[in-house]
Amino acid sequence: MASTSDSGATWVAVVGGGPAGLLAAQHLAEAGHRVTVYEAQATMGRKFLVAGHGGFNLTNGEPAAPFAARYAARQPEFARYFQHFSAAELRAWAHSLGIGTFVGTSGRVFPLEEHKPAHLLRAWLEHLRTLGVELKTRHRWLGFAAQTGLRVLDEAAAQETVVYPAATLLALGGASWTKTGSDGRWTAAFEEIGVQTVPFEPSNCGAEVAWSAFFREKVGRQPLKNIALRCADHTVRGELMLTEYGLEGTPVYALTPALRAALAADGQATLQLNLKPELPTAQLLSKLAGRRPGKSLASFLADALKLKPPIPTLLREVGPPELPVAPSELARLLTSLPIPVSGLRPLDEAISTAGGVAWPEVDEHLMLRRRPGTFVAGEMLDWEAPTGGYLLQGCFSTGAWAARGLAQWLGAPVSL
Ligand SMILES: Cc1cc2nc3c(=O)[nH]c(=O)nc-3n(C[C@H](O)[C@H](O)[C@H](O)COP(=O)(O)OP(=O)(O)OC[C@H]3O[C@@H](n4cnc5c(N)ncnc54)[C@H](O)[C@@H]3O)c2cc1C
Repeated sequence: MASTSDSGATWVAVVGGGPAGLLAAQHLAEAGHRVTVYEAQATMGRKFLVAGHGGFNLTNGEPAAPFAARYAARQPEFARYFQHFSAAELRAWAHSLGIGTFVGTSGRVFPLEEHKPAHLLRAWLEHLRTLGVELKTRHRWLGFAAQTGLRVLDEAAAQETVVYPAATLLALGGASWTKTGSDGRWTAAFEEIGVQTVPFEPSNCGAEVAWSAFFREKVGRQPLKNIALRCADHTVRGELMLTEYGLEGTPVYALTPALRAALAADGQATLQLNLKPELPTAQLLSKLAGRRPGKSLASFLADALKLKPPIPTLLREVGPPELPVAPSELARLLTSLPIPVSGLRPLDEAISTAGGVAWPEVDEHLMLRRRPGTFVAGEMLDWEAPTGGYLLQGCFSTGAWAARGLAQWLGAPVSL
């Protein structure tokens, strides 16, 4: 396929039909380019739809500065991407597709009740078609060819061709939930041309704890509400889920970078669980001092502190062999219960991944330094952020930013 059509429009390829690739395709088409999206799966946006199975957080209502700080190691870059395509612009974009949004109490932005992620994706793909974007599913990118060439396998026809777009934007995703298409296999093609990638690691995932057989059987899967969890100097509040293999839930997801660092350094990590984060220490001590002799710990904790089962079992599982009686020692245990973590859950289960294209490999427009005219966006870049809408916003904003860089590189007047 030639890089310029009869109409004179420049032809660009986007590879990867997730949120980063599709938003880039939209912006490039709106800027007058002829765009083809190649997607290996039979349908576009599979991980986007998976994200919709739980609470679908499109973005977050947090102010700009703390928002950018969520992308800890890459805060200045992300602040620039959000300036270009902000959370407000993301909400306006959803609106333009007929999908209203609201900010929940936690700051997370959700589509309105009646709008399912599938509605949003359908409206979006329809809009892309009206813009003339060619959507090619079951087309797998295999690697780079000479000059601007891309090796593409048409899986339905079992035919490999080399296409020559004027420029390319790759948005191939991370390496979790491989059944959605984000398999991370693209790193081999990058290494072939000398582009360095950082190994993928699970992010926003559960933690493994070697519970005793008794604990696994007795407790199984149960929530612990209104707790705080600490690792190193990071503390996160929320709801934790005890599972047969360890811990799940927002606080543990948010602590994966700290857990990963501790596990890499020592081969093990410890989470400190505070079961009463809202109760001032003096009040906790006074309640504990009121325990009558003869009253069992389980019924005392339930009556005085609303700490009901499975908490006594958890205290016996990870606490000292003899649970303390002195209020100060018991208070310490209830507010800083050490839970030993032996590892993180497997990569494929993670909500997102750290690792991917190393930052020194891209310029400020997200163009590969070793392959001018090829841009990258979304989770395939080496960044991580917590759940709560920050992941999708990061993908949308890098997609928009890379599309802008690509249009600029092609010499188009940049109004993107
Ligand atoms: C269970 C779950 C829940 C989530 N919930 C949320 C949430 O509520 N809020 C939030 O912000 N984020 C959430 N996320 C994260 C979010 O879905 C991802 O960060 C986001 O989809 C990544 O977008 P992307 O465009 O970079 O990549 P992807 O969405 O992974 O898209 C990449 C695409 O590239 C295609 N591809 C890969 N290799 C090739 C190839 N060689 N040739 C052609 N195509 C290829 C893949 O098939 C895929 O469709 C969730 C994720 C999971 C797994």
